[in-house]
Amino acid sequence: MTDAAPLLATARTAVAEAMGVARMIQGRIKETPGLVKSDRSPVTVADFAVQALICLRLRATLGEFLLVGEESADVLRSEAGAAVREAVVAAVRMVWSEISPDQVLAAIDSGAHDATAPAYWTLDPIDGTKGFLRGGQYAISLAFIEDAEVTAGVMGCPNLSPDFDRSFADPDPFGLLYYASRGGGAWASAPDGVASGGTEVRCGTSEGPVRVCESIESGHSKQDTTARVIAALGGAGTPARLDSQCKYAVVARGQADAYLRLPTRADYVENIWDHAAGMLVAAEAGAEITDIDGRPLDFSCGKGLSRNRGIICASPRFHARILEAIRAINP
Ligand code: AMP
Ligand code: MG
Repeated sequence: MTDAAPLLATARTAVAEAMGVARMIQGRIKETPGLVKSDRSPVTVADFAVQALICLRLRATLGEFLLVGEESADVLRSEAGAAVREAVVAAVRMVWSEISPDQVLAAIDSGAHDATAPAYWTLDPIDGTKGFLRGGQYAISLAFIEDAEVTAGVMGCPNLSPDFDRSFADPDPFGLLYYASRGGGAWASAPDGVASGGTEVRCGTSEGPVRVCESIESGHSKQDTTARVIAALGGAGTPARLDSQCKYAVVARGQADAYLRLPTRADYVENIWDHAAGMLVAAEAGAEITDIDGRPLDFSCGKGLSRNRGIICASPRFHARILEAIRAINP
């Protein structure tokens, strides 16, 4: 097995660097051009710029690498993508001042691996693009997968506050970086604290009623079923809602007891980049992660978690009870 320590160090540096650029782009999002992908989902300058920046940093530090990234540069080569391409190149030049447009597009496309090798990286450059656009939470999520196991994961959460009382809708000025390696625990640091150590994070052991988080987007998780699960467990109130994989960090640090992602469509297959890093951070913090049938997430099927349905990430006190409640509701 590849030694995870140097991979994790490189990934932390890469993600921290990209967090700064993403933050600047989000600050000017109203004046920044965007595009809509063929699946009608939005894509921003930041999605492309972050994928380029992470690939460039991995190449500079590790040499050759394989990466399954969410984005491709194809659309940026078209006439319709010209304005976004220009803005992406300008953003990447904040770090790589001499880089040419062709080199930026090639860097984005170096994330075009198909998840068939025994070991590769996976990246969601901006997870929660809708959150990014609404000024809310998003994550830069990078993980290393070897022999179908996630062995290292880094999740940059640029708008997540260390203050649990701060609303998720109120972006933190600094954000946090969460990272984990298999068997090495889960850690948090400030984005500029990459050179030093972090603070270990552990999921909650609270005695109180269950605290749940879920997507803001009702199309991404069945919110009425979440409400029924909470009621079945004797909980009250509405779940916390936030965009992106930051939900795994919210459970990992004990701010919520569970993150529920309940399928809204029978045919939806979760992408590996939407879960790999977050899942490892939460698992290493002591949470239990399965799909809604109680199966572990299966990273042996390429780019999709095609053998799983939905996600239950919960502290050990609640995981089995949530599964049981979902079974009884039979969504
Ligand atoms: P969230 O921020 O938790 O709402 O999740 C954002 C992610 O949801 C995106 O990265 C998409 O890949 C993913 N997504 C898109 N459509 C669906 C769907 N129908 N069900 C679940 N997830 C989806
Ligand atoms: Mg995503």
